Amino acid sequence: MEALAKLEKILGSAKIKTQTEELFVYGYDATAGLKNQMPLAVVFPESTEEVVEIVKWANEYKIPLYPRGSGTNLSGGTIPAAKGVVVELNRLNKILEIDLDNLTATVEPGVIINDLNEAVKPYGLIYPPDPGTVTTATMGGSVAECSGGLRGLKYGVTKHYIMGIEAVIGTGELLKFGGKTVKNVTGYDLPALMVGSEGTLGIITKIIVKLIPAPVAKKSFLAVFNSIDDAGNAIAEIIKNRVIPATLEIMDQTTIRTVEKFKNIGLPVNAQAILLVESDGYPEQVEMEAKIIRQVLEKNRGEVSEAKNDEEREKLWEARRAALPALAQVSPTTVLEDATVPRSQVPAMLKKLKEISEKYNLIIGTFGHAGDGNLHPTILTDETNREEWQRVEKAVEEIFKAALELGGTLSGEHGIGMAKNRFLLWEMGEAGVNLLKRLKLAFDPNNILNPGKMA
Ligand SMILES: Cc1cc2nc3c(=O)[nH]c(=O)nc-3n(C[C@H](O)[C@H](O)[C@H](O)COP(=O)(O)OP(=O)(O)OC[C@H]3O[C@@H](n4cnc5c(N)ncnc54)[C@H](O)[C@@H]3O)c2cc1C
Repeated sequence: MEALAKLEKILGSAKIKTQTEELFVYGYDATAGLKNQMPLAVVFPESTEEVVEIVKWANEYKIPLYPRGSGTNLSGGTIPAAKGVVVELNRLNKILEIDLDNLTATVEPGVIINDLNEAVKPYGLIYPPDPGTVTTATMGGSVAECSGGLRGLKYGVTKHYIMGIEAVIGTGELLKFGGKTVKNVTGYDLPALMVGSEGTLGIITKIIVKLIPAPVAKKSFLAVFNSIDDAGNAIAEIIKNRVIPATLEIMDQTTIRTVEKFKNIGLPVNAQAILLVESDGYPEQVEMEAKIIRQVLEKNRGEVSEAKNDEEREKLWEARRAALPALAQVSPTTVLEDATVPRSQVPAMLKKLKEISEKYNLIIGTFGHAGDGNLHPTILTDETNREEWQRVEKAVEEIFKAALELGGTLSGEHGIGMAKNRFLLWEMGEAGVNLLKRLKLAFDPNNILNPGKMA
């Protein structure tokens, strides 16, 4: 193909793959139940200039481009929906600067999130966004998805840490949005628009992030509940008492039993729910918060234990980290959803999820960032069982309808991609979806970047 030959000439043969067996894995990402689609080629740019060349090439031949970090997204975001070229950004992986005067870091998109945290640790700093994939996901992918994570409740999500972005938009123009200043109200908030844009507006080539001081003290609790309502009420009440823990996670009975079966860490398998709560900050503040947290948990009939040292703390978090891997071992297909409601509605959403699981006779394990209302109902199924899969699709629809009815959203952190396109109208309405489309065209008039996603 003439176009690919030209691309190979631009990049050199070491930065392009075109053999079928090499392309196979790029037809997938971490999302279950979506049809895979092999790309025409995969390219591995090593500089911003090469990204510019690739986008110009794509415009010349009207060939779609699919930006990709580590492919861990859960919305079909990197699947090449139409025949096109995957742009894998993992060779752009330098931490360019850690600026201790301004408390910022400047990184290339292929830097792994955890590597940035390791690099800033000696300076007593952290970059808080911490998706479950913090050791594999890239900074570019997490900016494009606006990843959240366990610390989202207190520290916020990716969008709260992005100060500046350099990106090649769909025309091939290289643009810089924002910078190192704490304040910036020049023009529209374009860095914010790029965050969560899921590779549809530009290919991010540089990111300036805000760093914050690492907390010096921590206290972690595990609370066991015999009623899911009590657990839900405890979550709402902690916040009502004006305590924002760093982390406030829930695991329901299905998840507890599954984790225990695979990990054997002594979890209470008869409990209806457990909450994992961590307060962090200065010691005095942590002491004060911990007292309130314990009181609220106990008042709501939680059986509370506190980690006495780092080792015990680590053991508590092992249970939470094992939730998804353990659930994933139960059945061939794991549909991990991302229904998010205002946190006061967590008890109502948990109840609704139980009803949906009974109505469709499906195993749904629910865990997640309950403190910020971001639940991950996880359906354990087998996509080759067509009859069961139809029930799964109906259940997923009902989950999102319920979340919206409770004043929630289609996605708290996994984005829309291809997986939730069909629900977008429910949340945004026709005018909203049309505006998304017009914005897309302003950045990418030839619809080169990640077509078929978001809208
Ligand atoms: C087990 C598991 C746990 C997870 N836990 C969480 C969690 O707690 N919180 C959370 O938010 N997410 C979570 N995720 C989802 C996922 O890991 C995150 O969204 C992650 O940040 C994606 O990073 P990535 O490098 O893999 O991006 P990819 O999957 O490669 O790409 C994601 C999107 O970004 C676009 N993209 C990638 N790089 C660029 C770039 N340089 N410029 C423009 N667009 C780009 C892609 O086109 C795609 O649309 C989890 C996933 C799994 C499998």
